[in-house]
Amino acid sequence: MSKYIDNLNNYYVNTYSRSNICFTSGKGSILVDENGKEYIDFGSGIAVNGLGICNEKVNEAVIKQFNKIPHTSNLYYNEPQGTLAETLIKRTGMKRVFLSDSGAEANECAIKIARKYSFDKYGDNRNVIVALNNSFHGRTVTTLSATGQDVFHTYFMPFTEGFRFAAAGDLDAMKSALTKDVCAVIMELVQGEGGVVALDKDYVKAVAELCDKHDILLIIDEVQTGNGRCGNLYAYMEYGISPDVVTTAKGIANGLPLGVTFVGDKAEYTLSAGTHGSTFGGNLCSCAAAVEVLKQLDEQLFKDVKAKHDYIIKELSGCKGVKSVTGMGLMLGIDCEDNKAVLKACREKGLIVLTAKNKIRLLPALNIPDELLKQGVEIIKEVLK
Ligand SMILES: *Cc1c(COP(=O)(O)O)cnc(C)c1O
Repeated sequence: MSKYIDNLNNYYVNTYSRSNICFTSGKGSILVDENGKEYIDFGSGIAVNGLGICNEKVNEAVIKQFNKIPHTSNLYYNEPQGTLAETLIKRTGMKRVFLSDSGAEANECAIKIARKYSFDKYGDNRNVIVALNNSFHGRTVTTLSATGQDVFHTYFMPFTEGFRFAAAGDLDAMKSALTKDVCAVIMELVQGEGGVVALDKDYVKAVAELCDKHDILLIIDEVQTGNGRCGNLYAYMEYGISPDVVTTAKGIANGLPLGVTFVGDKAEYTLSAGTHGSTFGGNLCSCAAAVEVLKQLDEQLFKDVKAKHDYIIKELSGCKGVKSVTGMGLMLGIDCEDNKAVLKACREKGLIVLTAKNKIRLLPALNIPDELLKQGVEIIKEVLK
């Protein structure tokens, strides 16, 4: 075992069960470990390196910004945040963005917006947020409270109050959950950590209509589904809905930390001076990266993502032991026997994949070259044999 591995085992809090590999470099969809072994990357650092590791244009923009000025504080104006905010608003039809550092932080902001929107308009006692069973919204105490999986609701009591859960895809369950104390609904359109399950379009549209009818804010968590991952800039665009709040992070800055909370018409002015903030939020290098990421997230790339999706589905559904391949775009889950063994066998053959619940989860870079995609898929097929 290498010195690097020993260091983390000896001096880092034991929160991760890491694989015994230490990556030291990478380019595009290739990862290299400390022994020089190369791997095809079907994980993208959990949907973060969406445009490949060390994307040239992104890295250039970051280095340029870093050498100009990496941080100013949010007490002053700056160029990269402004350019990014304008681009995001023009491409989504939302009204404003708040920039933070992570998915959990973007969701915390969305939760504060929902509670304050309702407080401003209706006063106390209308603060419940309905989330879905099997969801994942982050690791802070409040976003854990919003996460619909019991395993996350241990040890850290008391959790934040005011969350209620409904079965995903069950419209009647949603209807009964939406009592008059509810201020918002939060959902992922494709439940990522929950096993890569895409919600039904009619269900999502019906929930959006219910929310609209009762002035309940609809928050769509696009931390994982966003930024081209599902074959459109944001997955809600594929669902044909207009959410009140959208959150994203992971792939937005291709490797640098950045969280985004979008607000639409209703909540445009809900947060006012002094009600929210973040010291590192919208870091200038992260914003410079995101501006460059958005330039590359164009219609052609979305088409490619959809074609790659079709290819993977065609190749892997019906393989031995595969019960189903689910998901949207390049966010896919393979329901197979013993996913941990499949992951390990793939790794030995030079392919990095992820898991989600009992599935194998694939999150390759959106621009993975067809040849590498094919090689990776062949490895999975071999392992499944
Ligand atoms: C990863 C994830 C989060 C948490 O993001 P962090 O950046 O780790 O805080 C929240 N929601 C969803 C849907 C995610 O996939």
